[in-house]
Amino acid sequence: MSERVEVLDVWFDPVTLEEAASRVTGWLDGWNGRPPVRQVVTANPEVVMQARRDPRVAEVIRRADLVVADGIGVVVAASWLGTPLPERVAGADLSEALLAEATKRNWRVYLLGASPASLGGALAELRRRYPGVEWGGWHGYFDAEGEREILREIERMRPHLLLVGMGAPRQDLWIAAHRHLPAGVAIGVGGMIDVWSGTVKRAPEVWRNLHLEWLYRLCRQPSRLPRQLALPRFAALAAARALVRMLKKPGRNRH
Ligand code: UDP
Repeated sequence: MSERVEVLDVWFDPVTLEEAASRVTGWLDGWNGRPPVRQVVTANPEVVMQARRDPRVAEVIRRADLVVADGIGVVVAASWLGTPLPERVAGADLSEALLAEATKRNWRVYLLGASPASLGGALAELRRRYPGVEWGGWHGYFDAEGEREILREIERMRPHLLLVGMGAPRQDLWIAAHRHLPAGVAIGVGGMIDVWSGTVKRAPEVWRNLHLEWLYRLCRQPSRLPRQLALPRFAALAAARALVRMLKKPGRNRH
């Protein structure tokens, strides 16, 4: 297994989408149905900036079993810093790849997050697309009693995959606080439940290929602007670190 790669104090696993999916599949093939839950974090530049601000988020990422670069910004910054990551691993693509495995292997999958209507729509769509899977789920706006019921359901169902779509970092903190549950692998999937339900559209492939998915989302949901201001801050910090690294290099070579 390759060493993790650091980008602005957050450590990433240098894996391709295929490697990430096969690592998770390997864990689930060998899973004995018991806790603890393995945690996957899909971190984009916004999550890196959250981790720099909030030590709880940094700790959750540090303890995660797999941390993938869910943003072209992270991949570019890693190459500026001289420790390249192989490619962007979008949480959306990773979860689709895993659901394809789930249908072949008859996994149990639990979705947690989004509005009740969106969750219902997503479950209906996913049941249609991935028929071999046993599905469960709950919306993401629960109170203490709702949460107790969610925990009971997960304990009864013992899902292979627990996909939590409550936005970062809430979803990642929730998973970290519930690693004692009998679930195989838990992944924070952001707004994917809305995508599966059809409430939100993923960027068309041309935008994705141009690495402009973030811009597409911003145009569709301008309310995301304050959050996306993390992007230029991330880029400026990464550029400053890369510059320092470049300036230090000749000095080191002289000795
Ligand atoms: N959400 C939730 N519970 C909350 C707050 C948000 O389930 O208390 C859901 C929200 O309905 C949406 C998702 O979390 O489906 C957040 O999506 P977003 O696109 O903001 O996530 P990102 O991918 O940017 O982390």
